[in-house]
Amino acid sequence: MAEPEQPKGDPIQGLRSVRAQSAAKEFLQHALSGGRLSTALLFEGPDGVGKERCARALAQCSLCLAKQPDGDACGRCAICRAIDAQKYPDVITLARTLDVLTQQEQTGADLKSEIVVDKIRELQRERLSYMPHGAIRWVIVRDAHELNANASNALLKTLEEPPANTHFVLATHRPSELLVTVRSRCQRVRFATLPESDVIAILASRGVEAALAKEAAKWAEGSAGRALAMADPELLASRKSWLERLLAALRAGKPGAVVEVSEAFSKEAAAKEGDEVLVVLEMLERYFRDEAIAAATDARKSTVLAARSQLVRQTIASLDSNLKAQMAVESMLVRLRDVR
Ligand SMILES: [Zn+2]
Repeated sequence: MAEPEQPKGDPIQGLRSVRAQSAAKEFLQHALSGGRLSTALLFEGPDGVGKERCARALAQCSLCLAKQPDGDACGRCAICRAIDAQKYPDVITLARTLDVLTQQEQTGADLKSEIVVDKIRELQRERLSYMPHGAIRWVIVRDAHELNANASNALLKTLEEPPANTHFVLATHRPSELLVTVRSRCQRVRFATLPESDVIAILASRGVEAALAKEAAKWAEGSAGRALAMADPELLASRKSWLERLLAALRAGKPGAVVEVSEAFSKEAAAKEGDEVLVVLEMLERYFRDEAIAAATDARKSTVLAARSQLVRQTIASLDSNLKAQMAVESMLVRLRDVR
């Protein structure tokens, strides 16, 4: 059975259609209207907060046929609509999962785990070697930290001698993983986490039911992307039940309970796609953090809870370095129990 198609959300209609991010938007609008926009921009900030959306809105501002008095795009002209639909030839998205020429999602054998140098060469040969159709051309690099070393160096050459009238936007939530030489070529624009109300509104625009949107947003740390991934009732229920079981094992105080739950949890997580251990541990960290804030008037209790939240955060960081999940969760629970 085919998956029901998820609504695309609100159309991109200029910078005003990008939620929150007022500092980034203000800076970009002024730089664009004053002709001071750098050729290469680095959009950095958490995943799923609207960096790529903002890049498209900025492209609309520079190409719109009926610009508003404040410099924002109209959002309704043929070019604005084509950019929103990702069908405008002068706004090119480069991503691990996208074909440079057709801008279509790639699947199967074509899909690489990083952005490879062939994609940059293809971009240079098939797109950048021609003049843009309009006044300005945009290249948006999604998840720029996925550029591998060769691709980064190839892109660096292009940034050093950019083709005429071409702007680059490198979007990333892991800026430190970019080559220093690439980073130093770019003007940095910082993006912040979204207020929970904006995350809920974005989910609503995607057709997520209100109660579920609220619950998903609660665990999403200001990221609409994360909240969307959370907004699956079955998945959310399973994650919350693991959170409860981990907390119950902590309360039980018997070493057996900790071993048992760590084993069951990591076994089930390994059978699932994505990083279930990471997501549930992030929920656990958030749980302790919220409890610490709620217990603010009780200094001792609040300190214990904050220490627990810190410990979970350390475990999350160690997971990135490929520690075996079961061992990591087990040792975390043992240490959490000892924080009192
Ligand atoms: Zn327009």
